[in-house]
Amino acid sequence: KKTSTWTELAEPLPVKRIAVIGAGTMGAGIAQLAAAKGYSVLLQDVKEEFVNKGMETIRSLFAKATSKGAISKADAEQAISRLQTRVDWGASDDVDLMIEAIVERLEIKQAVFAKADELLPNRAVLASNTSALPIDDMAKATQRPEKVGGLHFFNPVHKMPLVEVVRGAATSDETIATLVGVAKRLGKVPVVVKQSPGFLVNRILFPYLDESARLVTEGFAITDIDREAKKFGMPMGPLELLDVVGIDVALDVSKTLSPLAQQSTPSPALFQNMVAAGNKGQKTGSGFYNWH
Ligand code: NAD
Repeated sequence: KKTSTWTELAEPLPVKRIAVIGAGTMGAGIAQLAAAKGYSVLLQDVKEEFVNKGMETIRSLFAKATSKGAISKADAEQAISRLQTRVDWGASDDVDLMIEAIVERLEIKQAVFAKADELLPNRAVLASNTSALPIDDMAKATQRPEKVGGLHFFNPVHKMPLVEVVRGAATSDETIATLVGVAKRLGKVPVVVKQSPGFLVNRILFPYLDESARLVTEGFAITDIDREAKKFGMPMGPLELLDVVGIDVALDVSKTLSPLAQQSTPSPALFQNMVAAGNKGQKTGSGFYNWH
């Protein structure tokens, strides 16, 4: 049975201070969670207004948590005091982990990884929150490919339990163990996945979101599509979810995944082989699972 590609092979590195690069939807969410869980956080963006907007998001997340009684006012204030912001790169000897959460463009992410490699201490692990881009291409921009991996959160960060820890071709066991450790301390359920476009979740999710958008262009009503999907058991309709993710982000992810989608239509060879072998699922007693 294939499960995780990670086994507990290495000791995690100690992580006290995290640099979150990008103070948008995801970066602000990650920084808030990290500060709430006791990490010291450096939040960086390219302009003062973006950093300020990120801090506003963070304050309102803490305000909601205190009003629900999830955290005391004093603890929230202490967590906020663990956050620092900056608008440009500088040497930061105290950073143990970078989590990059900037725009989904490979060349811009590569520039960030090159800067981080130059200015962050040699011990620091460099992680990307990319939705679908290859971790290996970011690792190539550094001199420490073994310390580069993916740490892929879902939106909204404070609510979604899953985090994908992405293993690139050169990622070391120590780096994987460190990322798994951080995800756990953040209260998340880490799943270690191998580098492949869209990793695991978006590889499954995006064809569904893409088809929903295609139905809109064919004249189906947005509210009808979302209502039916919810009846089907989804917590949120696909078009509502696309709005929450951001259409610009979805466009970038779709561009990365569309060559793959074309390869796998109309139905994968795996289906054909399984049917030919009589493995038709529950009705024949075996399919992907053994039903006996
Ligand atoms: P966003 O547009 O809300 O925020 C991106 C931020 O990065 C902006 O504030 C921008 O100013 C900043 N930025 C751009 N270039 C920068 C640089 N060189 N240095 C520092 N900051 C820079 O985007 P987002 O939705 O938070 O997505 C960020 C990343 O997370 C993307 O890779 C995206 O694919 C991924 N992601 C997004 C979602 C989602 O639902 N939105 C979910 C999971 C992963």
